[in-house]
Amino acid sequence: MRIVIVGNGPAAVAAAETIRDLDGGCGIVMVSQESVPFYSPCPLAEYVEASVPRAHLFLRPESFYRDLGIETRFGLAATAVDSAARKLTLGSGAAATQLEYDRLLIAAGARAVMPPLPGLADTPGVFALKTLADAEGILARLAQVRRAVVIGSGFIGLEAAQALVRKGVAVTVIEAMGQVLPQMLDAELAALVESRLREHGVDVRTNSAAQAVLGGAAGVAAVKAGGVDIPCELVVCAAGVRPDVAWLAGSGIATAAGVLVDDRMATNLPGIYAAGDIVETNDSLGQRRVIGNWPNAVNGGRIAGLNMMGVERRYRGLDGINVVRIFDLPVSSFGGRDGERSLCRKEGGHMRKLALRNGRIVGGQFYGDVNGTGLYHELMNKGVDVGSFEDELLAPGFGIGRLMPQPPLPLRRAA
Ligand SMILES: Cc1cc2nc3c(=O)[nH]c(=O)nc-3n(C[C@H](O)[C@H](O)[C@H](O)COP(=O)(O)OP(=O)(O)OC[C@H]3O[C@@H](n4cnc5c(N)ncnc54)[C@H](O)[C@@H]3O)c2cc1C
Repeated sequence: MRIVIVGNGPAAVAAAETIRDLDGGCGIVMVSQESVPFYSPCPLAEYVEASVPRAHLFLRPESFYRDLGIETRFGLAATAVDSAARKLTLGSGAAATQLEYDRLLIAAGARAVMPPLPGLADTPGVFALKTLADAEGILARLAQVRRAVVIGSGFIGLEAAQALVRKGVAVTVIEAMGQVLPQMLDAELAALVESRLREHGVDVRTNSAAQAVLGGAAGVAAVKAGGVDIPCELVVCAAGVRPDVAWLAGSGIATAAGVLVDDRMATNLPGIYAAGDIVETNDSLGQRRVIGNWPNAVNGGRIAGLNMMGVERRYRGLDGINVVRIFDLPVSSFGGRDGERSLCRKEGGHMRKLALRNGRIVGGQFYGDVNGTGLYHELMNKGVDVGSFEDELLAPGFGIGRLMPQPPLPLRRAA
C-alpha cells in the first residue's frame, strides 16, 4: 500500500509516525512545497529576534525520514487531485508529474492572507511571517531597516512587532479594527495590551486600515493607512491565515472555508483524509469551525493516521486556546465572549474574565496571570455546571479538584 501525505508540518509528521508505528512495510511519500525538513513555525518571531537559534526550529533529527522509510518530494507543490484515478499532481505545466496513492492525507496547512492592496505583492521588503523562508527574508533585510510597519494585530503581528523592537527597529502596528487582538480579547483587555505595547515603544494605530504599500524596485518606502503615509523600510503583513483549498478545486473533495472532514478526519471521498490547519470540522462543542493551532494539527494528524490504517478512532473536536506573550507578559483566551454574564477579577495589574451562559463557562480571557486557562477550558468542554461554585471560580487557588469525580463517602465501620 502507498500512502501519500501532502505537507511536512505537525499534522503530516504526526500522521506519518502513527502510520509507521502501525505498519512497518507500507510506502509513505511526503510532499512539501518547502524544501526544508520538518520545523516549528511557532518560534519564528523569536528566531528573528535571535533568542531561538535556527537549529532549535527543527524538531526531528536529520535521519528522520530515512529512519522511518519515508520517501520525500520536497520543494514541490501539489496542484491537483484526481480522485477517480487516485493520482496526485505535483507542479504544473510541462514539469508536472503524478504520484499514485492508495490513501491520501491532505495536511497542507494554511496560507498567509495577503490583501489585494496596491504595492503589497510586488514591492521588495514586504513579508508575511508564516514560513521559515519568510523569517529568513526578514532577517536578510534587517540591516537596512530602521522602521517597520506591521499590518494586523493578531498574535503573529504582535509577535513580529516585539521581535523587531528587540532588534532596534521602530515599529508601527496598524489594525483596521478598533482594538488589538480582536479575535482573542474584548476591548477592555485589549486596552491593557495596547498600553503595554506602547510602553515598549510600539506605535499602535487602531481603526487604521492599510490602503497601499508605497515604494519601488529598491524597496518599501511607506505604508498608506487611514490616509496617512507611515515611512518604513520593512512591512510584515500579518493579516491572518486561511486554509489553502484553491488547488483542490475540481477534485470533488468537499470544501467550505477549509477541507470538510468528519470525526475520523475523513473527507467525503474514499481513501482521502485531511488534518491540521487546512481542515474545517467540529470543535469540542460541536460547532463547525476552522481553528489552526499546533495541538489540533498533531491530534488531527494522529487520528487521521489511525483511521487511514483501519484503526477506528474519533476526534473529540478542535480546541481553541490561544496564548501570546506581550513583552514577556502572558495573555490567553479560549471560547467565545458572548456569554449572558461575565465574571471579572483584577489584581496587581492583571485581569481575568470568564463568560458564562446557562451556568456554564463559554469562554475566558486572561491578561498577566494565565494560570488555570487549561482547567477553565476543560470545564467548558465538559459542560460542567459551575453555578454552585461560581464565586470561587476566579479566586486564587481554584484548582483541578473541580474536574475530578467526587470521592466516595467513607465506608461506615460496622457498629
Ligand atoms: C509565526 C507563527 C507562530 C505560531 N505560534 C503558535 C503557537 O504559539 N501555538 C500554536 O498552537 N500554534 C502556533 N502557530 C500555528 C501552528 O504553527 C500551526 O497551527 C501548525 O503549524 C499547523 O500545522 P499543519 O501541519 O496543519 O500545517 P503547517 O505547519 O502550516 O504545514 C503545512 C505544510 O504543507 C506544505 N504545503 C502547503 N501547501 C502545499 C502544497 N500545495 N503542496 C505541497 N506542500 C504544501 C507546507 O510547505 C508545509 O510543509 C503559529 C504559526 C506561526 C506562523
